[in-house]
Amino acid sequence: MSDKKETPKIGEKRKDSNQPLILPGIHRYQFFTNLKDRGWTINLDRVALFGIVAAMLSVVIKPLLRWNPATIYCYECRACYATQDRCPVGITLQAELVVAARVLDYDRFIRNGGLKCIRCGNCQSYCVQYLPLPEMFSVMQQETRRAMVNGVIPKDILRRALSQGLVGKEYIDDVAKTVA
Ligand code: SF4
Ligand code: SF4
Repeated sequence: MSDKKETPKIGEKRKDSNQPLILPGIHRYQFFTNLKDRGWTINLDRVALFGIVAAMLSVVIKPLLRWNPATIYCYECRACYATQDRCPVGITLQAELVVAARVLDYDRFIRNGGLKCIRCGNCQSYCVQYLPLPEMFSVMQQETRRAMVNGVIPKDILRRALSQGLVGKEYIDDVAKTVA
């Protein structure tokens, strides 16, 4: 029997003996690329991997581009919720603000009171990683203000925030002007 490996053509199924070797005598079974009888699946694993890598990069690149890199390090343990009534403006879900800042989700940030945070830093001491929460919230507040002025944030979201008292005095003029 010849040792020469056959190169399977598109549309043909690769034989088990032609699977790549990982150790002498042990073949790595390639599931997707093995399905030569279905042409469109040949690169399915690569497409899936590309999608996963792209999604992961977007989580990292977005905060970097927005000058809010510390948000990447939050692992959403929610230990900062222990701040409780030590937050002077009554924000209870600080991790929501961090995640909103990471993915630039304005609605989530506003809904959880991001625009009323006064950046006192009380919650920072409850963060298991001592992340700079006030700085992160400040960057996101500026981003939110910019988005608001540029009309990116739907007025309904801003009206709801106003009616629910979710806008601090620093931002109330901008919000009122935007929804007027
Ligand atoms: S920094 Fe903001 S969220 Fe944290 S305790 Fe102070 S006001 Fe509340
Ligand atoms: S305690 Fe720190 S790491 Fe944990 S969720 Fe809150 S901000 Fe993120």
